[in-house]
Amino acid sequence: MAHHGHHHHHHAAPPAEYPKENHGPGAKWIKHLTQNRLGTFNGGHFSDVNLSSVLYHHRIDNKENVKLEVWSAPGLEKPLFAEAMKQKFKSAKKGDSFGPSCEGTCGDGMREKETERNADEESQTNHWWKVSLTIPAYWEQYERVQFEFDPDCEAMIFTTDGTPLQGITGGYGGDRRVEHIIPRSAVKAGKYELVIESSCNGMFGVPWNGDTIAPPDMNRYFGLRSADLVVPNMTAWHLMWDFQTLRELADSIPGNTALQNKAIVTANEIMNVFDRGDVESIAHGRKLAEDVFGEAWAAKGAGIYEEGAEKAQVWGIGHCHIDTAWLWPYHVTQQKTARSWSTQVDLMERFPEHRFTCSQAQQFKWLEQQYPPLFKRIKDKVAEGKFHVVGGSWVENDSNMPSGEALARQFIFGQRYFESRFGIRCNTAWLPDSFGLTGALPQLIRLADMDYFFTQKLSWNNINNFPHSTFNWVGIDGTQVLCHMTPVDTYTAQATVGDVNKGVTNHKNLESSGTSLLVFGNGDGGGGPLEKMLENLRRIRAASNHSRDLPPVLMGRSVDEFFDVLAADSKAGSTLPNWSGELYLEFHRGTYTSHGSIKKGNRKSEILLRDVEIISTFASLFKFHKKDYVYPNQRINDCWEKVLLNQFHDVLPGSAIGMVYNDAEKLYAEVREEGETLIEEAFATIFPSSVALADPSIKSKKNGTLVGYNTTFFPRRDIIEVPLSGGASRLRSQVVQAAKDGSVGYALMDCANGGGVSYGTGMYADCKPVSVTRVGTDQFILRNASVQLTIADGRITSLYDVALERELIPTGETGGLIIFDDRPNYWDAWDVEIHHLEKYKKLKFESITIASEGPLRVSLKAEVKYGQSSINVMISLDAIGASMKKNSRSFFRFDAQVDWHQRHEFLKFELPLNIKNDYATYETQFGHVQRSTHKNTTWDMAKFEVCGHKAGLIYQYADLSEYGYGVAILSESKYGFSCRGNVLRISLLRAATAPDAEQDQGKHEFSWAVLPHQGSFLESDVPIAAILFNSPLHVRLVEDTAAAPLLKTKPAFVVEGAPNIFLETVKRGLDDDFSATGSDGQTIVLRLYEAFGGHGTVKLRIAAHLPVVKVLETNLLEDELKEHAAYQTADADAAVKLSFHGFEVKTIKLLLGKQSAVPKRESWVTVDSPGF
Ligand SMILES: [Zn+2]
Repeated sequence: MAHHGHHHHHHAAPPAEYPKENHGPGAKWIKHLTQNRLGTFNGGHFSDVNLSSVLYHHRIDNKENVKLEVWSAPGLEKPLFAEAMKQKFKSAKKGDSFGPSCEGTCGDGMREKETERNADEESQTNHWWKVSLTIPAYWEQYERVQFEFDPDCEAMIFTTDGTPLQGITGGYGGDRRVEHIIPRSAVKAGKYELVIESSCNGMFGVPWNGDTIAPPDMNRYFGLRSADLVVPNMTAWHLMWDFQTLRELADSIPGNTALQNKAIVTANEIMNVFDRGDVESIAHGRKLAEDVFGEAWAAKGAGIYEEGAEKAQVWGIGHCHIDTAWLWPYHVTQQKTARSWSTQVDLMERFPEHRFTCSQAQQFKWLEQQYPPLFKRIKDKVAEGKFHVVGGSWVENDSNMPSGEALARQFIFGQRYFESRFGIRCNTAWLPDSFGLTGALPQLIRLADMDYFFTQKLSWNNINNFPHSTFNWVGIDGTQVLCHMTPVDTYTAQATVGDVNKGVTNHKNLESSGTSLLVFGNGDGGGGPLEKMLENLRRIRAASNHSRDLPPVLMGRSVDEFFDVLAADSKAGSTLPNWSGELYLEFHRGTYTSHGSIKKGNRKSEILLRDVEIISTFASLFKFHKKDYVYPNQRINDCWEKVLLNQFHDVLPGSAIGMVYNDAEKLYAEVREEGETLIEEAFATIFPSSVALADPSIKSKKNGTLVGYNTTFFPRRDIIEVPLSGGASRLRSQVVQAAKDGSVGYALMDCANGGGVSYGTGMYADCKPVSVTRVGTDQFILRNASVQLTIADGRITSLYDVALERELIPTGETGGLIIFDDRPNYWDAWDVEIHHLEKYKKLKFESITIASEGPLRVSLKAEVKYGQSSINVMISLDAIGASMKKNSRSFFRFDAQVDWHQRHEFLKFELPLNIKNDYATYETQFGHVQRSTHKNTTWDMAKFEVCGHKAGLIYQYADLSEYGYGVAILSESKYGFSCRGNVLRISLLRAATAPDAEQDQGKHEFSWAVLPHQGSFLESDVPIAAILFNSPLHVRLVEDTAAAPLLKTKPAFVVEGAPNIFLETVKRGLDDDFSATGSDGQTIVLRLYEAFGGHGTVKLRIAAHLPVVKVLETNLLEDELKEHAAYQTADADAAVKLSFHGFEVKTIKLLLGKQSAVPKRESWVTVDSPGF
């Protein structure tokens, strides 16, 4: 029947009569002119007559209706609500200005506009306002009454009893949010009171206002621009939002589509009917918009998301990326968090589809401490399923530089916090803004009980376009996580039509997965999603319910649900592509080096806490002298929280303002002081009557035995420096070599068993006595039986393997310090750009003198003067190998003291090598990574500066090997490396001036070492040598060895049978009872990993004095995964067999039996039945 159509055509309406004649001009539009006309409907040049002129029915700011009082906290002080309320307030008015934002020293309060700025005037950052509003009675007829408060900076509105209500973002940027909706009851009553805290930090990131990364303007003043009672014309506001969506449809939908044309026609028609004198014309305009959004769409509210397409392609989730510190310090972040989250809780009340997700347990903890009423509101929203915690980590950390164990703790501390406060664990790890992601992460994410991972930053790559949006990210050990890198290319989307559309058009894996995540909301000072974004999304969804030209967007779900759908759609990932290994960010490569002090603070703190945990664990189990010793769990955790906080992705990378580093260094100083105290307290338990070698009181000690405590589990030999002045001269008998002036000596320590105690000893038969020779005036040769280094005319001209008679430096080339011009294209502290390699100067070691002459250690002292800087380097060679491995070579150690005053220059140390390999090896967390030495492809070229590292513990190396031989650089606090062709480099110091004008200026001390090794990297001792280099012995003088029975016990743990399995961490269990009386269910937790990338099976021996009753393998959160059978060895130790695959991390929990409180006569340790 259908082909007879034209007789039986069914029209929706009767056919219009087609006129016979036509005398009109015809109406074909000039499309671009009509489209451009839409820009004149709101704001701009015609704002006095267009829609902007009708957005408010009323606006009043007279003091009868708006009464303001202010109190300004002195300096940078940030009193909390209750304290602020006790202060004396004085009256204030709109137009007053306040500040400056700098750290000042004197003064009081508000500054009137006309006052001249006084250099001594005190800064005032935080201002508290008491606001008393009188609302005209006839305003009750209106839909909404608002208080509009714009202090030109950020602020927070409280109830008069201190409950945070919402944040304010003042100023005229795109993040502006200055309205507070007055509750209906208050409008009825005609009275409303509020308290507001405004913060003129002058450091909000100001990305919409000038140069984003310039150091903060500390002399900025802020004016109170608005404190008005207003009645918005809500119909006009809704028309404005309608119109905005129509314009976005017109401008963002690519091509000539029906929807795009219809949006322009409709918007144009709205302009034609608008008459600012006719209220009805506004409602008429809204009705016209229904041509695009559907009839009566607005009344459906959030129900709009239940119509239309069954399956949405773009899932919207509200978010507020709050940098825990960046262009503002930590204490300002605490306010930003409270403002942003209270705003979102408020929005949820009005938009039932709104879901908000945020990460970083640290921010929740601050909120819990400082804003308890708000924390409770958020807790309720979490329970309702509207406020989602995500990420499972303590902060959104940098992932290049933290140690493997620190990354594990980020997750452990994060997940445990969320579980303890909200009863939930996260299932999605969340690092959208970190500057590159280590290939160790997938395994750690899965071990932290999460399956999914969200990130974004690689869209910033400045060379190659990352090829995937949704993929399986497979880590170095083969573990995968389901990863989504949003095609919208931002985690602060504005929820526009363009954003929604990009979720599909920029999706790189539509062939296997058609869904993307839209993470929208203003970050940092912006407070998260704005009302207009939620309005816009409703309209976008409404439009897509009637058109296929726009992908449907979905609201009301969680990030975890989004990933669940990805997993289901991709048949558990099997239809998705894989990405193997690290997610290297081709950008921000200077962050491995910027701010030397923070890198060093991180490395030293990680090692210190490792040592604290090991020594405290043993002290807590061997309560010999101090029966009341309790494992200082809380104090250790407090230290960890500080270290984890400083690993935030703009702090550890060195990309924050100077103030942030003042705070960070203070935290590191606290960690060091507390850590050293904890170690002393633990040693007082296990080595009573002992004193640290570094303790000044050593000089008054006349007798005693030097004992080293080895916190690694490798056998080792060390050469230690011993003070010999004063009473300590008695120690001369325990040293092998004394300095010329007799102030210090060098002793040889031996720890043959691995783990535990190291004893002083004389020279061994297999030692390699060192010598130093001066030839002529400018040539110096350091040598022992394994290696030799020659410095001639200030450069390293020869590195020689004595046993193999092999020269490692190519003829005619030299190694040494080198300095590059370092002027990145924009992001100063962040970036070192590829062109820095083109402009450099090679520096010479100057004024070289012999500082030590052997036989244990030889040293050369060299000075370099460059510009306003001085670089003093001590170059040393010891008479022992780098490790106890057979054929281990000795390393050359470089200890530098630098007074650095360069700007925009980059200091490195380089070594050209007679070694050919397409790949160099760099340590990463719990393993290593290989990167090419050539520039075959742009992907190879992009990695001209890379992060080399530290595994679990903290050490770091870069290695260039070929068949049979290699050379490594070991690093003690630096993370930047490169190997281009045959030149291996370590990056030492930069000097950016933004956002910290004084970055890295001043004194630095750091060390590195050059380690030649026989065999390729995989056959070498480089990872062990790097750990030992970073973990010096804790040397103590024990006055009465008989009183320290631990000296005589076997090491608690020995790893036998596979040299590639390392024992990294020893600590007490997360859920142990540390109260003085608690003794049940005590555990020790060990973390081990495979370090070379191959299988291995070890026998983990547990000394008999540890009453182990059960051996459990767990995840990082110490949930039991399985039980391992333990058995008793011939010498009464317990042992357990553990198998690893390459780079596998294992957590082993040892459940202990009851320990006897009183040591038995024949043995100071308990000998209760081990139970197997
Ligand atoms: Zn960030």
